[in-house]
Amino acid sequence: MTTTSLVTGLDGVRAEIARACRDAGRAPDSVTLVAVSKTFEAAAIEPVIVAGQRVFGENRVQEAKAKWPALMARHPGIALHLIGPLQSNKAREAVELFDFIHSVDRASLCEALAKEIEKQGKAPTLFVQINTGAEPQKAGVLPQDADDFLRACRATYGLTIAGLMCIPPVDEAPGPHFALTAKIAKRNGLSLLSMGMSADFDVAIAMGATHVRVGSAIFGGRH
Ligand SMILES: *Cc1c(COP(=O)(O)O)cnc(C)c1O
Repeated sequence: MTTTSLVTGLDGVRAEIARACRDAGRAPDSVTLVAVSKTFEAAAIEPVIVAGQRVFGENRVQEAKAKWPALMARHPGIALHLIGPLQSNKAREAVELFDFIHSVDRASLCEALAKEIEKQGKAPTLFVQINTGAEPQKAGVLPQDADDFLRACRATYGLTIAGLMCIPPVDEAPGPHFALTAKIAKRNGLSLLSMGMSADFDVAIAMGATHVRVGSAIFGGRH
């Protein structure tokens, strides 16, 4: 892709977010666009930064470590979001590098994160991932376990959880999955909702998403 089409992609997504916010009667700045740059090299990411985007998402700690320190040294004010599954043994690197972690989903990870947050004196904003479709291959807490898990995050591990994240099954309408995630967040007093990707971020915004994770609509298809 050329630089021009990358920026057009970003502008198009921003315009669509603004439209979805208007339709939903929401302020446009109530939704944060997380530009998902996984698999794309620094050369493809940099034009998007230059176009004004400052919030990016990666799904692997190692890949992010290889790409982002140099980019962040050149461009101040970048916020990095980890949106993919996190192994407990990578908690140290994740807390060092990321401002947000969207994939908290089990006790062992809570324990590892709590230890690192204490040690580093720095706490990323945390989301608990909900496996709304109860898909065996997918990470996340089952909906029926969410309330207990959220209670344990606070009471047992002393973690502050800011919101919930979900990835609906690819072959189902996303709306009910977004609605379920919003409902669990509401009854647990959580204000942030990470939901919506390239194909469905407008639906997610209608259902209250505060963070949409958009990759291919900005950067083009991944190989
Ligand atoms: C890759 C990815 C996205 C972005 O997907 P697109 O369809 O390219 O917008 C969003 N969320 C997660 C968790 C991802 O892994």
